[in-house]
Amino acid sequence: MSSATIIDGKAFAAKLRHRVAAGVASFVAITQRKPGLAVVLVGDDPASQVYVGSKKKATVEAGMNSFEHRLPATVSQEELIALVETLNADDAVDGILVQLPLPAHIDDKAVIAAIDPAKDVDGFHVVNAGRLAVGEDAFVPCTPLGCLMLLKEYVGDLSGKNAVVIGRSNIVGKPMAQLLLAENCTVTIAHSRTQDLPDVVRRADIVVAAVGRAEMVTADWLKPGAVVIDVGINRLPPQAGETKGRLVGDVAFDDALAHAGAITPVPGGVGPMTIACLLRNNLVAAHRRAGLEVPQGI
Ligand code: NDP
Repeated sequence: MSSATIIDGKAFAAKLRHRVAAGVASFVAITQRKPGLAVVLVGDDPASQVYVGSKKKATVEAGMNSFEHRLPATVSQEELIALVETLNADDAVDGILVQLPLPAHIDDKAVIAAIDPAKDVDGFHVVNAGRLAVGEDAFVPCTPLGCLMLLKEYVGDLSGKNAVVIGRSNIVGKPMAQLLLAENCTVTIAHSRTQDLPDVVRRADIVVAAVGRAEMVTADWLKPGAVVIDVGINRLPPQAGETKGRLVGDVAFDDALAHAGAITPVPGGVGPMTIACLLRNNLVAAHRRAGLEVPQGI
């Protein structure tokens, strides 16, 4: 039985981070300053703390400044927006990332709207979402951008391919669909109300699963040879002898190996690309703010 190529997101992300670091070095040589990324963390959600810690480490390793702002969960929306406005005005800050989710009393849309679109390296601001939709230069959310890079690396020309994106969030599903459309794919966006989802997925040359349901996409949903990008991160309940359950994606990986042409693993697929693309977006923001041409190949 044939076995799918395992798409090594970790290795691809390492190469991208290397290219970003080289771009940072040239930027510093020209401007005599390091690009800066400000990360704002509200409250003490353990998963968010881990994400912010990894982003800080990667930012510094790429040669950029990391400015971390930790605020208590009790901070008011006005205080948080005031901090965002200070960062908007700070010339040492090229990119601003407000780690989501925010506490329930804060409207995340209002906070994202306060970020200067030129510093919106997460690509969540409506101005960037709009620019992506109409085909103008935009900051694209890091996870779908990373997925697209992996697809281009492993598939090459995407033109004319049938792509099915499962999930329609503003962070992953919708921008992913826009990116694939811009590559001339025929795009279907599936979601919780989609009828006959397995049949819809079976028509796809490219499947991007961004749902958050452990191993929902089974091997029999896949067209033989389909390229599968698994965005989902789900923790299974611990089995006997495990302290923590295993991390799995939205696709039943082991079974899918016999049907897919190529597939990303979880972990080690899309996840590492997300941080690498954040660094890439921050370097792009720094170049644009400095009036410099963005380096090729990042
Ligand atoms: P959301 O919860 O915002 O969106 C999930 C989407 O899945 C929704 O559009 C929902 O449909 C759809 N959905 C839910 N149930 C079904 C179903 N039974 N059949 C079909 N569609 C369904 O999640 P995100 O987009 O933020 O994240 C998706 C997954 O990706 C999560 O596991 C998350 O942890 C992971 N993730 C991974 C990242 C990485 O770096 N690797 C980064 C970001 C996310 P509807 O709109 O109808 O409710």
